Amino acid sequence: MPAQTYLFACLKDNFGVLLHDPDSGATAAIDAPEAAAVEAALAKTGWRLTDILVTHHHGDHTAGIAELKRHHQCRVVAPRKEAQKIALVDETVGEGDAVRVGSLAGRVIETPGHTAGHISYFFPADKLAFVGDTLFSIGCGRVIEGNPEMMWQSLMKLRHLPDDTQFYCGHEYTQANIRFAKTIEPNNKALAARADEVARLIAAGKPTIPATIGAEKTENPFLRADVPEVAKAVGLASSPAWKVFAEIRERKNRF
Ligand SMILES: [Zn+2]
Repeated sequence: MPAQTYLFACLKDNFGVLLHDPDSGATAAIDAPEAAAVEAALAKTGWRLTDILVTHHHGDHTAGIAELKRHHQCRVVAPRKEAQKIALVDETVGEGDAVRVGSLAGRVIETPGHTAGHISYFFPADKLAFVGDTLFSIGCGRVIEGNPEMMWQSLMKLRHLPDDTQFYCGHEYTQANIRFAKTIEPNNKALAARADEVARLIAAGKPTIPATIGAEKTENPFLRADVPEVAKAVGLASSPAWKVFAEIRERKNRF
């Protein structure tokens, strides 16, 4: 049976998401921003927590781990390259490693840049990706521990996923990201249509994710640094894509 997901808002602007395998009953929390919100989601769905899949070490993705593990004895899977910064890790993973949630088969994609060891999880059969703070809808994470070239390469790995991949990110930043994206590509029609759709969702109190990789390719300036018009728009025609990406990221930091 296909995987099921349950998305919920928590903390200030974080997303939490549960990934559930109906065949085995296994359920993973993707990151653990806060235990109470994850518990509420479990109560609402009636699912039993078996795993926590951690994307990176930041507190707003890991603060709930200890309490959830105490209550559910769940397995904690975390990125090998920063596992020492994360509490109570049972299993460490890196590029290409298989991660199972019950009968759901996922694999790890290393996506460093926001943090040095950040990973994403991709479940190909269900075309679901959990990308933490690497890719946001119409945006991307701040480059904190890595460098722009590293972050661009990480985003390219995610851009290579199938177009109909639905991805879940760590924060609800979409509307603010759209305001910025329009400064880079004011004439992007797909982006304008997305802006209308997102405004409707926000007005209805609904989340703006999951989004698809295919849509982001046409709408998200951070995935479009190798599009000639985008390079030109930031005054860097014929520069390497990662430099264009770095300039867009720098402008967003100041926006
Ligand atoms: Zn983070």
